[in-house]
Amino acid sequence: MTDSLRTFMLKGVPVSPGLAEGLIYVHQTLLGPIDVPVSIVRGNVEEEFSRLDDATASISNDLLALATRVEKEIDTRLSLVFEAHQLIANDPTLREEIRKEIADNLISAGSAVKTVFLRWEKRFLLMESQVARDKSDDMHDIAIRLRNALAGITVHPLDRIPAGCVLAVSRLLPSDTVFLASRPIAAILLEHGSIASHAALFTREMGLPCITGLPDLMNTVPDGAPALVDADDGTVTINPGMPQIEIFQKQVAYKEDFLAYARDRATLPAITRDGITVSVLANVNSREDTENAMLNGAKGVGLYRMEHSYLGCVVPPSAGELLGEMRWTLEAVRGRSVCVRLLDIGADKPMPFIRFMVESNPSLGRRGIRLLREYPDLLDAHVRAVLELSREFDVRILVPMVTVSGDVEVVRESLVRIGAELEIYPLPKLGAMIETPAAALSARKLAPYVDFLSFGTNDLTQYAFAADRENAAVGQYFDDASDVIFRLMQATHDDVPGMPLSVCGELAGRLEHIPRLLQCGIRTLSVAPKLVPLVKEAIRNTSCGKSA
Ligand code: PEP
Ligand code: MG
Repeated sequence: MTDSLRTFMLKGVPVSPGLAEGLIYVHQTLLGPIDVPVSIVRGNVEEEFSRLDDATASISNDLLALATRVEKEIDTRLSLVFEAHQLIANDPTLREEIRKEIADNLISAGSAVKTVFLRWEKRFLLMESQVARDKSDDMHDIAIRLRNALAGITVHPLDRIPAGCVLAVSRLLPSDTVFLASRPIAAILLEHGSIASHAALFTREMGLPCITGLPDLMNTVPDGAPALVDADDGTVTINPGMPQIEIFQKQVAYKEDFLAYARDRATLPAITRDGITVSVLANVNSREDTENAMLNGAKGVGLYRMEHSYLGCVVPPSAGELLGEMRWTLEAVRGRSVCVRLLDIGADKPMPFIRFMVESNPSLGRRGIRLLREYPDLLDAHVRAVLELSREFDVRILVPMVTVSGDVEVVRESLVRIGAELEIYPLPKLGAMIETPAAALSARKLAPYVDFLSFGTNDLTQYAFAADRENAAVGQYFDDASDVIFRLMQATHDDVPGMPLSVCGELAGRLEHIPRLLQCGIRTLSVAPKLVPLVKEAIRNTSCGKSA
């Protein structure tokens, strides 16, 4: 039987959850205009310069309009991607490099754009951090936009994509994804692209099911074949039989009913069948997240990641700026508990204001508390800001990337010293993120300095399995629901039985694993705002079976 009729399944890495069915639409290339280098004569150099300026001005307007649209229709944070594209397109150094390419090599503006951007793309691809590598997608995206403008092409290659299809592409650029926002497609399958790429972020925000890291996708999936996409667990069934379709459709109907029911009950407490109350909190990055968290019935904020606000900063934030930022983001949660994580920078979250030494393995290098220990002024500024915040909010503090007790001891010392100076009593509760196996197995040593522990299962899994959390190629090793992770949690609980334990990594939102988390002594779960009603309902439907 040929692949066009055979039933088979592909397994990849889910980046945006959901169930969907539709016909496969294989899109072989999303490349821009095909051009061989076009030569010009010296007399035309000025004309090419001015064509380049016109095209830059034109895409600049388009990008600003796109940023405004994305901000209104999708997400404020994501609109920043296109604002950044607009800034890059207008970057004077880049413009000079393109002009030099035109004048020195006597080639058209389109050809020069291609060469220069390709050079930059490659530079980013060679960098260590995944964030920098994802920038190559951005450069590719801007180059296509600019070359299309120079070639007078206004139709997007995805313009003719059939409604309701399951799009299979090798790689997706940010603007392709936004373009898809206005097309009613069912799901996206990708051969390449990390879970942390901008394209992945977009699909999650748009609620479009998406799976990445599907090996040899472009050669294995037949165009037009029916497909069942389960982006909750990363599988695609091609050419399903009738029984598979029926099971899948029941799954979809059940999921929809469950969601509607859970939303209706979102503000009720989450108590297991055997009477254990669990706090369901939200992970937030922005003011919008905090508002959504409250609307979805979160009891408070279990993880405030504030790095996102600083990704572009060229000078370190002052205590005043940090305070202003936190107040603005957390307004909706006043009167409830808020857990602020100290700046978790380094590795996948580089900051321009810190001179990062080149490290051959940044994830195992200076990040989180390690970096704050190296920059005590930054640590103190952050502690001071959080202490000031505690005058208005019910604040807790979380220390990221703890490995040894010294990591929490320095924060306790800073908290006590600055707290005395500001005359703040009692001090906010202090917690350690358990993100390394060493921390999980050192709970007794951490205990004298902390009031609670929170498992960051994303990093804990990365470090337990030695599998980069952002690298789809080692996705099969990254198993955050493995027995290994639960055993680390259980060991922590056994070592410090009275210590309040929470989970704020992605595992906290995986409904099927909630019973096991509760059995390990976890009594607080912090999840993405939209998952709060589902997690609460899952808790109500389970029994803990053990007392903590
Ligand atoms: C984690 O590692 O599980 C976590 C919650 O922190 P982040 O995802 O921000 O690294
Ligand atoms: Mg982490």
